[in-house]
Amino acid sequence: MATGPDAADTMSARCDFSYRHYRELVAAILGSGHEITPLGEYQRVPGKVCLWRHDVDFCLRTALEHAHLDHEVGVRATFFVRVHAPSYNILSAESARTLAEMAGLGHEIGLHTEPMFHLQRGRDPNVELHADVRLLSAAVGAEVRAVARHQPARFPAQVADEERYLSAYGPALESFQYFSDSRGLWVRGCPCTQADRHPRLHLLTHPIWWSEGGDSWDERISAVAGSVLGALEQEFSSYRESVRAARDRVEPSAPG
Ligand SMILES: [Zn+2]
Ligand SMILES: [Zn+2]
Repeated sequence: MATGPDAADTMSARCDFSYRHYRELVAAILGSGHEITPLGEYQRVPGKVCLWRHDVDFCLRTALEHAHLDHEVGVRATFFVRVHAPSYNILSAESARTLAEMAGLGHEIGLHTEPMFHLQRGRDPNVELHADVRLLSAAVGAEVRAVARHQPARFPAQVADEERYLSAYGPALESFQYFSDSRGLWVRGCPCTQADRHPRLHLLTHPIWWSEGGDSWDERISAVAGSVLGALEQEFSSYRESVRAARDRVEPSAPG
């Protein structure tokens, strides 16, 4: 992938991770004549194109909020979701509703592949990939075609990615200028000032870093962790109440 200029030259004071600046970023890219598409659709655009993806590492609820923000500003993107995430369950009823809602907003759902998960269990990620795609396709209720690796630096190219699927790291995208907000940093500078220079853009944003007020990276980790843990606490709290009610209904048996 092509590299960009130094970050220091391409960031302005307004380049924070607020929803306000997210809207400005989208406006800058649309203003430079790019069509913004999910990964699965960039090939139909003959001219300037910006494929936009979000990697959902920790929380589908946070991603859904971002899906609505995208919808509000006219962006359809690919949301890459994990099937082995410790912090969300892709097969839960809430996830099914969330994925359907995202799709209803015009977004594409892709598989955020986890080769390290399979390697650590002594399995071949290139084989397990197909099972993961089938699992996510069943959860989404449609065929998943787009794949993007979680922690791509830790695992070299996954050959199976390109054989059957549209891969975010495949050779077809090497001519795209890539910008990522990984770790809450635009290491190649914020793309809002650079869209004009690149007819083909590949933007990766993570919903975890963005918020209404542009909170800091550590505040955002706390906020998303709080959301995930809050939902779990609610589940256990309602379980506690149901157990208490059931136990209260049972007459204690007489001893002996
Ligand atoms: Zn910016
Ligand atoms: Zn990831």
